[in-house]
Amino acid sequence: MQFRDLPKQYEVLKPQIDAAMISVASSAHFISGPEVKELEKALAEYVGVKHCITCANGTDAISIAMRVWGIGKGDAVFVPDFTFFSSGECPADEGATPMFVDVDQRTFNLDPVKLEETVQKVIAEGKYKAKAVVAVDLFGLPADYDSIKSICKNYDLLLLEDGAQGFGGSINGKMVCSFGDISTTSFFPAKPLGCYGDGGAIFTDNDEWADLVRSICVHGKDMSNPNDPNAKYNNIRLGKNSRLDTLQAAILLPKFKAFVDYELNDINHVAAWYTERLKDTELVLPELKEGFYSSWAQYTIQLPENVDRKKVQEQLKAVGIPSMIYYEKPMHLQGAFEGTDSSVADSPVTERLCKTVLSLPLDPYKTNEDIDFIVSEIKKAL
Ligand SMILES: *Cc1c(COP(=O)(O)O)cnc(C)c1O
Repeated sequence: MQFRDLPKQYEVLKPQIDAAMISVASSAHFISGPEVKELEKALAEYVGVKHCITCANGTDAISIAMRVWGIGKGDAVFVPDFTFFSSGECPADEGATPMFVDVDQRTFNLDPVKLEETVQKVIAEGKYKAKAVVAVDLFGLPADYDSIKSICKNYDLLLLEDGAQGFGGSINGKMVCSFGDISTTSFFPAKPLGCYGDGGAIFTDNDEWADLVRSICVHGKDMSNPNDPNAKYNNIRLGKNSRLDTLQAAILLPKFKAFVDYELNDINHVAAWYTERLKDTELVLPELKEGFYSSWAQYTIQLPENVDRKKVQEQLKAVGIPSMIYYEKPMHLQGAFEGTDSSVADSPVTERLCKTVLSLPLDPYKTNEDIDFIVSEIKKAL
C-alpha cells in the first residue's frame, strides 16, 4: 500500500498528463510558457483573489512574501511551533527572528490565545519589532482566521497564510490562500495539489505587492514595462530565480481539474470513513469545526501517551501499511535555532503532539476496504 498513491493517480489521468508533457516538449517553451499564465488565472479564480504568481516552490513563496514586506533584522515573525520547517526557516533566512507559538491540540493550528500572549510578550520586552504572523493550514485544515485576523489588526501585524498543505480547504466557502495579506502554497508532489517536481504559488489582492513578487521571482527585473522582453536585464532590486516550469504548469492543469471535479470530494469521504471507523477507540481524531472544510494533506491521529508509537508503526509496516510522523520535533527545538531567541517557547501542546501523532495512508483513490484494513490493523496494534 502507498502512503499517498501518486502512481494510481497517474494511471487515472495518464492520457491528459502525457499529452500535456508532450505538448510542452514539442513547443520547447520551457520557461514562462502559456500554460503558466493559464494556470495562474485558473488558480486565482478558484481561490477568489486578484493575483496568483507561480514560483519554484512553497519555500521560495514564503521567502518572497517576506522580502516584499521588507521583513528582516530586528523583526519578530510569529510562527506555529508545530509545522514544517519552511514556515520558520524563511523569515529567519531573511534575517528576522521567528517566535514560535503553541498550537491547538485538536486542530493542530495556531492557538490564538497563545498567539496574542506571545505578541504581547515580544512588545513588552521591546527587543524586536512585532511585524508579521505566518499562519499555517496544517494537514489541510484552515487556521482559525477569525481570531488570527483580529489579533493582526489589533497589533498591526501582516498576515502570511502558509497554505502549502491547505490548498482546496475553506471556511464557510472562503478558500484557503485567500486569508493572508499574502498567501502561499506548494505543489510538492505529496501536497493536496501536487506537480511532478517542485512548484509553488503566491496569492494576493494587492497590485503593488503582486508586481514586487513578479519582479523578485525574476532577478528583481524592472516591472514598469511588463511586456518588454529585455526588462529582465534591467535589474532594479535583488531577486531570485524562482519560476514554475512550463512542464509543471502543464501537468498541474489536468491535475487541478481532477482535484476540483472529484479528488477533493473523494479524499473528504476517505477521511470521514477513518473517523467513522476510529471514533469508538481511545485515539484522538482530527476535528473539523462547524464551517471548516479540509483538503486533508494528512489524516493524523494522536495515540495515548503510554502507547509505544515506534512499535505501532513497526506492526503496521509488517502488514504493508506505511505511516509517518509529522512532526517529531517542535520548531523551537530544531538545531538551526539553537542559541537564538527563537529557541525559547512555551509549547506544552506541541511537545505532547510531537510524542503522540501518527499520520495514516490517505489519498482520494483509497477505498473503504483499504481504510477498514488499516483500521483493523491499528486496533490490533493497540
Ligand atoms: C511543504 C511545506 C512548505 C514548503 O513547500 P516546498 O514546496 O516543499 O518548498 C512550507 N510550509 C509547509 C507547512 C509545508 O508543508
